[in-house]
Amino acid sequence: MKYECIKAKSLLSKPHVADSWFHMNRSLNAYRGCEHGCVYCDGNSEYYHVENFYSHVRVKENASDILKKELGKLGFTSRSELETETLWSFLDDEDSKRIAEKVPRRLVIGVCGGVSDGFQQAEREYKVTYRILETLLDYSMPVFVLTKSDLVLDYLDILKEIHERAFANIVFTITCADDEIQKVFEPNASTTSERFDALKEIRKAGLFGGVMATPIIPTIGDNADNMTNLAQATKDAGGEFIQFGGMTLKPGRQKEYFMRIINRRFPKCYDLISRIYENNNTYGQPIWNRLPVNVMVMGRHICKQVGARDRSVRHRIPHEYESNNTVLGVLLDINFRMNMFLGMPRSTTKPYWELAARIEQGVDELSKLQTNGELIQHLMIDSSMEKTVEEILGSGTCEVLETLEARIDRMTETELDTDIRQSPDEFV
Ligand code: SF4
Repeated sequence: MKYECIKAKSLLSKPHVADSWFHMNRSLNAYRGCEHGCVYCDGNSEYYHVENFYSHVRVKENASDILKKELGKLGFTSRSELETETLWSFLDDEDSKRIAEKVPRRLVIGVCGGVSDGFQQAEREYKVTYRILETLLDYSMPVFVLTKSDLVLDYLDILKEIHERAFANIVFTITCADDEIQKVFEPNASTTSERFDALKEIRKAGLFGGVMATPIIPTIGDNADNMTNLAQATKDAGGEFIQFGGMTLKPGRQKEYFMRIINRRFPKCYDLISRIYENNNTYGQPIWNRLPVNVMVMGRHICKQVGARDRSVRHRIPHEYESNNTVLGVLLDINFRMNMFLGMPRSTTKPYWELAARIEQGVDELSKLQTNGELIQHLMIDSSMEKTVEEILGSGTCEVLETLEARIDRMTETELDTDIRQSPDEFV
């Protein structure tokens, strides 16, 4: 393994607006390249321009300094800069709310994602992720961690402090229930059992946490045994949710490497997987009607059986109005169901996403606007959207979402009763 220390010029990604997958606003990478070695990793594709992705890790040793500068440019001030710790502790809720209204809305920062795992082995030596967390704590930023490593438990103390000031949401990517199959696809990550154990610790410590079961590998992971075991283990570990998702395979390096491993370890699956990704779609999307099952729909069905939630959770950012967060969460659920489950056109989903984006960027307290009859005027919405918002404010859900979910459940029942696949016996 080659480690190379580099000076990053920038760190934070462009803004994620109303992100219905992870609910984050910006993300960052402490490293480029990842020694976890996941065979399906998107970061290995030429698209990200990281040569020798699995064996050469670039360490952004100045990451926390860059982060401080970038947060400063966005208008944030750290506690240590202002030395306001004492002052804040004397403020009551109303005072802090008034102060919070004068500073930018805090951002949920994703640590790390895309082209690295922030808790890979390099972190033991370089501690770049740790210094990033220290900075985020100083700025009281909510943190979203996505990882395949139980090394995150070494940082429980600082994560707890972040959770006290904002929140820490620790989500584990877990896709194969069987440790032996998992080792083929994620050779250097923590085992599946270790990740579930870590999730249990995270939840015991009072932090938010759940599971992203993505990517579920077609013909290998998309069977009832694997997905039920994952959902059950999530529930047993106290995870807030498990969200299933499919796999993309970009043509070129990513696809070639993945198919080489399939050929070697799962030869009986090779032809079917090749046919699913035969289109060589630039973004790696499969030919949908060749997929054996829709893993999201099947995942929902399984979650209902097990009693687990199949959707990530929208957590309230400090000083954000409770009613605004509730409406935002349901609008993003609608958007997610329409897009990811039902493949509805953008023109249908757009009004929900646009309203979610507007609320996220900061509007007055929705419950008060409702009382004053000002929702339409303030949010610039029509009366049917006003009805949806009012329903959510009243009951935490709405007819649009319930109708969508009922439709998905009907699909689930008819499709899956005849088609819940068995575990592969192709593993050799
Ligand atoms: S942990 Fe994530 S970034 Fe690292 S190799 Fe696996 S999929 Fe890629």
